[in-house]
Amino acid sequence: MRRARGFFRAMTRVAMLGLTVLVAVLVYNTLRFPSRQIDVEPVAMSELPEQQILDRFAESLTIKTISYPTPARIDSEAFDRFKQFLEASFPLVHENLSRMTGTDFGDERNQSLLFKWQGLEESAAKPILLMGHYDVVPIETASIDNWTNGPFSGKVDEQYVWGRGAIDNKAAAVGMMEAIERLIAAGFQPSRTIYVSLGHDEEIGGTRGNRPIAEWMKSQRIQLEYVLDEGGGIFNDFAGLDGPAAFIGIGEKGFVTLELTAKVEEAGHSSMPPPLPQTAIGILGEALDRLHHSPHRADIDRGMGMTLEYLGSEMSWMQRVAIANRWLFDPLLIRQLDNTPLGNAALRTTIAPTIVEGGVKDNVLPTQATMTLNLRILPGDSIESAIKHIEDVLKDLSIDIVATAMQRPPSKRLSSTDCDAFEQLHRSIRQIYPSVVVAPFVVVAGTDASHYEELDLAKETYRFVPWRLGKEDLKRIHGIDERLARDDYLDLVRFYEQLIRYSCES
Ligand SMILES: [Zn+2]
Repeated sequence: MRRARGFFRAMTRVAMLGLTVLVAVLVYNTLRFPSRQIDVEPVAMSELPEQQILDRFAESLTIKTISYPTPARIDSEAFDRFKQFLEASFPLVHENLSRMTGTDFGDERNQSLLFKWQGLEESAAKPILLMGHYDVVPIETASIDNWTNGPFSGKVDEQYVWGRGAIDNKAAAVGMMEAIERLIAAGFQPSRTIYVSLGHDEEIGGTRGNRPIAEWMKSQRIQLEYVLDEGGGIFNDFAGLDGPAAFIGIGEKGFVTLELTAKVEEAGHSSMPPPLPQTAIGILGEALDRLHHSPHRADIDRGMGMTLEYLGSEMSWMQRVAIANRWLFDPLLIRQLDNTPLGNAALRTTIAPTIVEGGVKDNVLPTQATMTLNLRILPGDSIESAIKHIEDVLKDLSIDIVATAMQRPPSKRLSSTDCDAFEQLHRSIRQIYPSVVVAPFVVVAGTDASHYEELDLAKETYRFVPWRLGKEDLKRIHGIDERLARDDYLDLVRFYEQLIRYSCES
């Protein structure tokens, strides 16, 4: 009995010792968990002729450059007007940069634009490409009256500039032009060549805009240092952070749309149905249920882990402990992230059922039913592997799985965070927005940058426009009451100026 008690006491001591060591390791790792933020000297904010700049931006929002999937609906004249607006608003850009237009790349509507600002020391450094698109998504007719100001009013009030495109993506397209116009006026000449592409069809895939431009660059053997497109931004409401964070996209997810068709031999009367999984609609239900229970594998090391590494040191103590000790806490972090739509999307290839069709009459069992699944593919997976997972999960169900033409592979690799280009971006953000924390992430939607990435034109590809958005503002993108704060647009212009200076000063 005494021996048993001694053994128990020894075990307790070992356990206590183990626990102490564990706590010591956790605390040690947390204390030496480094901040990844670059300390920068505050930069004197350049004076801007604010009203003129805001008025030009507002005017760009009045031009209805709407992309429709049906080409016949597209108002070509509006796109021509936009080009005229650029010419009239940014004369120095048009005098000093060479400009190619759509027809140079085989787009008969002649709408996309590629500007080239010749560098002084072309051989010293590879060119960079800044991207924006000036097409916008249509306004949903039923919601048009819900806009505080008309979607194409271009209204400027004390706080905001209102209109479709104020965020996505005329802010970037027009803001870049503004920054270059100002740099030329100040006598700045870039050391390296800068390309600026303004796509006209990003919202419908970019196949006539940036795709042909990318192909043309490939044919000219142009190799870029980096590409900067939309995709990330500054978000005010990131859980766990007190202040705003700037998210720079270092890769993007791909997508594929699948059609799943369940067929049964015989139709029948709905008064005598076979067991549910043997009806066409029942089989689809079974398929969906299985996919819910067997999602694609979550992998924190394909993007999200790096985001946490950058944010961790800026978070509260408990969160810092977890992120500084990922060897222990990764399963917990994954479980937490998994509970939110964005976290889930950042961790894995996702499956979204978007259309279900089948059946003709309320009392007839159909012989066939179809379900559309939209998959968003995490870098590291491929279109093929994403489909294979679905086939494996559903293999004993009588379902035909067909991949539609709606598909695009994910980024082949994530761009570096350990290079001059990322540092210049990081630095420029911290100078214009000193209170903002910078972090890389994987963009869950698609961008035109993917065309350049697919053709291996650039060493690195980043996705970031410095709009500052809160949770509520995210709904405004493609939604109602799209708007950008006046100060945010002015800072955006300053940001592009700063970035060009950093990237292109000799
Ligand atoms: Zn966009």
